[in-house]
Amino acid sequence: MDILILGSGIAAVSAAQAARKENSQAKITIYTDDKNLPYYRLRLLELVADSANKEKLFLHPASWYEDQDIALVQGHKARELLAEDKKVLFENGISASYDRLILATGSSSFVPPIEGKELPGIYTLWTMDDAHILEKAAESSKHAVVVGGGVLGLETAHALAGRGLEVALIDRTPILMNRQLDKQGAELFTRMVEKLGIQFIGSANTNAFVAGKDGRVSQVLLDDGKSIEADMVVVSTGVYANTAFIKPGTLRIDRKIEVNRSMQTSNPFIYAAGDVASVEKSWYGLWQVSMAQGKVAGTNAAGGNATYEPTVPPYRVATMGTQIVSAGVYDEEVIRRDYPEKADFFESEVVEDEDHGIYRKLTYCDGNLCGYILIGDVKDQVKLQKDLKPVLHA
Ligand SMILES: Cc1cc2nc3c(=O)[nH]c(=O)nc-3n(C[C@H](O)[C@H](O)[C@H](O)COP(=O)(O)OP(=O)(O)OC[C@H]3O[C@@H](n4cnc5c(N)ncnc54)[C@H](O)[C@@H]3O)c2cc1C
Repeated sequence: MDILILGSGIAAVSAAQAARKENSQAKITIYTDDKNLPYYRLRLLELVADSANKEKLFLHPASWYEDQDIALVQGHKARELLAEDKKVLFENGISASYDRLILATGSSSFVPPIEGKELPGIYTLWTMDDAHILEKAAESSKHAVVVGGGVLGLETAHALAGRGLEVALIDRTPILMNRQLDKQGAELFTRMVEKLGIQFIGSANTNAFVAGKDGRVSQVLLDDGKSIEADMVVVSTGVYANTAFIKPGTLRIDRKIEVNRSMQTSNPFIYAAGDVASVEKSWYGLWQVSMAQGKVAGTNAAGGNATYEPTVPPYRVATMGTQIVSAGVYDEEVIRRDYPEKADFFESEVVEDEDHGIYRKLTYCDGNLCGYILIGDVKDQVKLQKDLKPVLHA
């Protein structure tokens, strides 16, 4: 059996490993457009801090792929999926056939159509090559602007500030992390970021990037007319799924490739996993989810019978020198909006210790823990996650 895997992120490598475990005879080939060995993408900012960290970021040494009898073919970008012929065409003119195909092509950075977005000095971060480019740019820059206050933007701002750059972080929302925290927690976190010397500019829309005399970006213009000095800009405004090589009508796609719990697409010979896939319309863009889905896709493509059980994973990040975990229902606004009939049955315990950067909120519904937020001290997370119960509508 010929199993072809597209992509070399965590979903792809987990799929290859699971397929090998399931089937010792199958021919397993990973084709990827990346030229590096597969790496811990979520640790790429360690490279921005210090490019000498590169070796530590590889998931496995090259010998591991040989030992597992998994062929890793790098520098091959898929151009077209010919599902009827069970073939993939690559941009370099090569084609490869399969009995089972696993699509694990993940995401790419999305840059909104902001005037001047092509100027030199404007970057994104998703690949190891991006991280090297950012690291070089940071060497010769003093003023950095990060557009977008999601986790990636936060981590990028933190890494650049750690290198001694003056950093401004721009976001459309008035406070940081307001989707992952409640208002009180998000306000505390925003103050913590500012204490690190990062200038947070909230409720701001980026209007244009303006070039200096040397043709490189030198200013970021906001729609309120304000301008911010910048030698380099990192745009971190989201990602899109890499599905361009799949012609309309080939597979069921709604921005992501739709799969069932077997990670099977609308074509029974083709599986998809990780950031490129959505299971029953749910998508998380998380490392652990991609890994779990990859395992299921690999097992099933190799003839096994595994099922992915969608769970809402806790939101967990280590950023800005602190740790944050949140899960479940804890935000009063969400409670009023989604559970109006039960709003009186919710109660929360909150501890805030700003001097030590600690925030702890436990929310109960009908006496059961239904949500929590931990900032700073996250040691109780495993226990809280176990105790967490879903909120049932009345
Ligand atoms: C800096 C950073 C920090 C992050 N931090 C966290 C975190 O703290 N927690 C967390 O859960 N998640 C984090 N993430 C997100 C996490 O890394 C992703 O959810 C995860 O990498 C998705 O894995 P994937 O294998 O599905 O896709 P990807 O990692 O995107 O891999 C896709 C692969 O497909 C290849 N590819 C794409 N198109 C083609 C093509 N046409 N032909 C051939 N190959 C192709 C790519 O080269 C790549 O190898 C972070 C991401 C970044 C960039």
